Amino acid sequence: MNALLKKRETLLRRMMACSEFLRGSITSVCSTCNRAACICGGKKIKKAYRLTYKDTEQKSRTVYISRDQLPVARGMLANHARMRKLTEELFEINIAIFKGKLKP
Ligand SMILES: [Zn+2]
Repeated sequence: MNALLKKRETLLRRMMACSEFLRGSITSVCSTCNRAACICGGKKIKKAYRLTYKDTEQKSRTVYISRDQLPVARGMLANHARMRKLTEELFEINIAIFKGKLKP
């Protein structure tokens, strides 16, 4: 049981490290025509980035991401994947602790 609680502590610390997360997906559009498939016909296409996600009411939301914030946003999306994995691991430990507390 003690080992499980220790494992749980470690997991919670790892969760802290990836608590800055974003959920959704990053897409890019042409910054001039605002389309994914550019219709400007030019050679130099400047891209604009955005994060699309669903809110608690399952409504689609869009947040624009500046070029310099792009790596930050990508890192935060990766944190979400880590967080989900850690949540599953935490669940496994919680189940084991819960089972250990059951009286025969
Ligand atoms: Zn365009």
